[in-house]
Amino acid sequence: MTEKMLKFVKVGKQTPNKRKVDRRLDDFNEIYDQYINDKAKEQSSRCSQCGVPFCQIHCPLHNNIPDWLKLSAEGRFKEASELAHSTNNMPEICGRICPQDRLCEGNCVIEQSGHGTVTIGSIEKYITDNAWEKGWINPIKLTNEIDQSIGIIGAGPAGLACAEELRKLGYKITIYDRYDRPGGLLIYGIPNFKLEKFVVERRTDLLKKSGIKFVQNIEIGRNKSLEELKDQHDAILIATGVYKAREIDLPGNNLKNIFPAMDFLTASNRKGLGDKVEKFDDGTLNVENKNVVVIGGGDTAMDCVRTAVRQNAKSVKCLYRRDRENMPGSAREVYNAEEEGVEFIWLSNPKKFVGSEKVSSVLVEKMKLGKSDSSGRKKPEPVDNSNFEIKADIAIKALGFDPENLPRLFKYPQLIVSEWGTIKINMSTMETNIKGVFAAGDIVRGASLVVWAIRDGREAAASIHKYLKLKLIDKTKAA
Ligand SMILES: Cc1cc2nc3c(=O)[nH]c(=O)nc-3n(C[C@H](O)[C@H](O)[C@H](O)COP(=O)(O)OP(=O)(O)OC[C@H]3O[C@@H](n4cnc5c(N)ncnc54)[C@H](O)[C@@H]3O)c2cc1C
Ligand code: SF4
Repeated sequence: MTEKMLKFVKVGKQTPNKRKVDRRLDDFNEIYDQYINDKAKEQSSRCSQCGVPFCQIHCPLHNNIPDWLKLSAEGRFKEASELAHSTNNMPEICGRICPQDRLCEGNCVIEQSGHGTVTIGSIEKYITDNAWEKGWINPIKLTNEIDQSIGIIGAGPAGLACAEELRKLGYKITIYDRYDRPGGLLIYGIPNFKLEKFVVERRTDLLKKSGIKFVQNIEIGRNKSLEELKDQHDAILIATGVYKAREIDLPGNNLKNIFPAMDFLTASNRKGLGDKVEKFDDGTLNVENKNVVVIGGGDTAMDCVRTAVRQNAKSVKCLYRRDRENMPGSAREVYNAEEEGVEFIWLSNPKKFVGSEKVSSVLVEKMKLGKSDSSGRKKPEPVDNSNFEIKADIAIKALGFDPENLPRLFKYPQLIVSEWGTIKINMSTMETNIKGVFAAGDIVRGASLVVWAIRDGREAAASIHKYLKLKLIDKTKAA
């Protein structure tokens, strides 16, 4: 039994392979390794205060990691939390779900010297969870509200971070979102075992208590036009994320029980939130006792396979057309998934969904890696006469996301987008080609990370503030 599995047993949870009985959806949780005060102090004191803070440089928010580690090592957790919040709007969320191995921790000098990284993410999470528990995190209290308003489209991390920063400055903020709950992919994309939903709700409730107005169940473009929003507010932020699932056009695509990743993950997340989810309850999107095949090699695919394991699937297989080394998803996630019993079928390319009414198997051909393409990645090529079938009661397509056609959706053809459909902005002001309309997060970068969305949201807030100050000066002069 591996050390990680032993930890499951120690905290009274079942090992992944023995989790047959009485399991709720969120019964075992990624975040089982809870820090206590002493452990956080001990870990923080491992920081060598090396002088060249590579961790800080490689954190997209440039969090002042060495300083909050020092404060934590000294037991000054309140100050550590304040410092963590000075650069990050949701440190406990980043602490849980940032790919630290590629960012701060991967660049820790202690890690580089072979002694194991300081567990920056877990400490960041501890500092902030502890601050919530102690009542140190409170709603924004304004003494003076500015008579200018900003309309934000999208309540994901980019929109929320921007809203909080602007509210601190005194602006009136309304966030519009087409989902019934705020949080974007934090609430309906990322599974509960990586990010518990109460953690997201705690943040959005705080923003509500800070006077930020949330309008849910409203789709800009369909229920309200961008033009109307522009008339209503002094500035606009578009932070709509990317939601168009990439398709794989295979024979048999129209068979039943083939789903896009987000359908599967959203149903599971809604269930975890206590919603009635018909398609889960009637077994359509519930994979208990089923053979599951997930197509794709990114982090969304990893979330699908690991969610399937937690739903007690009979078998979970992941098809990816390159090999392990060339997989886009995080190595840590692959490791976790394998440990939980997921079978990776590397160098495999689906050719056909087989079945009469419902999918019953996936026809797959073997691949080998050929010459490198223009990006330097080796191109997968089919191996002759190598087809084989994999049994599937359900197939989940997790091939990534593209932006929706926003100029068309918003009925605003003047909005300039890139050839990939992401919104083009002036990189130093985050402003789109439309005056007073800014954009941030995945809709600008393409599918990315929460920590980058937060950074964009904060930068957009700073630019919107500058823009609105000038607008006010112009208005005053004109009057
Ligand atoms: C399954 C999955 C797992 C992931 N796991 C991780 C992870 O572990 N770590 C990590 O760092 N990143 C992860 N990511 C990526 C991360 O979630 C995103 O990069 C991040 O959420 C982007 O933030 P955003 O605010 O730009 O957009 P989103 O979080 O997508 O929020 C956009 C919001 O805009 C709303 N919206 C869209 N169009 C409209 C409209 N027309 N009108 C009104 N509202 C609209 C949506 O409803 C949504 O609430 C994951 C992504 C997925 C899909
Ligand atoms: S925000 Fe992410 S990258 Fe930055 S310190 Fe926290 S966990 Fe590391």
